[in-house]
Amino acid sequence: MSQIYLDNNATTPLDPHVLELQRSLSKEVFGNPSSIHWAGRSAKRILRTARETIARLLSAEEDEIRFTSGGTESINTALIGVWESSRLLCPQKTKIISSPIEHQATLRTLEHLKSRGAEISYLSVDSKGKIFLDELYEKLQDNTLLVSLLYAHNELGNLYPVSEIGNLCREKGVLLHCDGVQAVGKISINLQQLPVDLFSFSAHKFHGPKGVGGLYVRKGLKPQSLHHGGTQEKNLRAGTENLIGIALMAKAMEIAFDGFSQKIEFICGLRDRMEKGLQSKLTGIYIQGDLEHRLANTTNLQIAGVDGESLLLNLDLEGVAASAGSACESGSIDPSHVLLAMGLSKEKAKASLRFSFSRMNTFQEVEESVERVVRSVQRLRK
Ligand code: PLP
Repeated sequence: MSQIYLDNNATTPLDPHVLELQRSLSKEVFGNPSSIHWAGRSAKRILRTARETIARLLSAEEDEIRFTSGGTESINTALIGVWESSRLLCPQKTKIISSPIEHQATLRTLEHLKSRGAEISYLSVDSKGKIFLDELYEKLQDNTLLVSLLYAHNELGNLYPVSEIGNLCREKGVLLHCDGVQAVGKISINLQQLPVDLFSFSAHKFHGPKGVGGLYVRKGLKPQSLHHGGTQEKNLRAGTENLIGIALMAKAMEIAFDGFSQKIEFICGLRDRMEKGLQSKLTGIYIQGDLEHRLANTTNLQIAGVDGESLLLNLDLEGVAASAGSACESGSIDPSHVLLAMGLSKEKAKASLRFSFSRMNTFQEVEESVERVVRSVQRLRK
């Protein structure tokens, strides 16, 4: 039985061109970009080119892009870095606003900051996972330091109004960090126009390698480094750079942005075919989230009368990889914190499953997955 991978929000397979580049770079490049000899200079050129490429694709300036080990580190650096650097500059600003449906990388970092004296204020979310801008506006007070919110939701696919959020933050003199991990490669991003101060991204979500990502830091902002050591990444991230990973991330981003609208249209077609296929063959299929503002690649389904985890295991036996919650949580039997925060009962939250598509999927795979899901659901409902 063929294996079908529909869990692209957890991670994506490497693009074949990225793999090709990995092979050639691994043979040719080994220098440390901080060394002044020929090997170091050649490494430094690669690093500079990658930074130029990423800055161009995200409409940022080169020195606003800092490389990290991925989304989690970028988020930690943004939140802890801003908190620590503000302790001397503006100690009265102790409030951080976020939402209860953020990724664990944000939620756990906020818990840590709470233990360091931060007041964490969570916005309400409605049954579609939407936030209320007037509530945010009310919460933005003189003591507010920072807002941290997702751009695109990993479980639901919801897109959040980052421009409006950023404008409110600007009006009140509050910094905005945006978790853009699920957004890059799926929607176009213009960081020059978007009113955000910090923006996190991660290569393995757009067919790049795992363990490498980036943090956009708006000019003039100086978050404190989490690491102690060298002066790499403008003193934000000590340690020898993951040179090849960074070059591959730039290549993966370049590929994702090439023919972008056709790629997204194709992916959207896959998602729609899956939703329509399942809804036409099964009763009790409910699509969750904000259906008017969502990523093209994600569908979060509540399947009445079925336990999501049992369905996940059945699908695995059928060769289909999906997810019941975020990747960090799958394997656990806890219902998704996101769906619970949206007001779903434990039972309904546990009856939910996410399929996330990429350009590497095919319509044939979708047709085949529909059959396998229908078979598994019918078996479980018996
Ligand atoms: N933020 C979101 C929205 C994510 O989906 C993820 C990964 O699942 C992360 C952050 C963490 O990124 P990474 O796996 O690169 O640490």
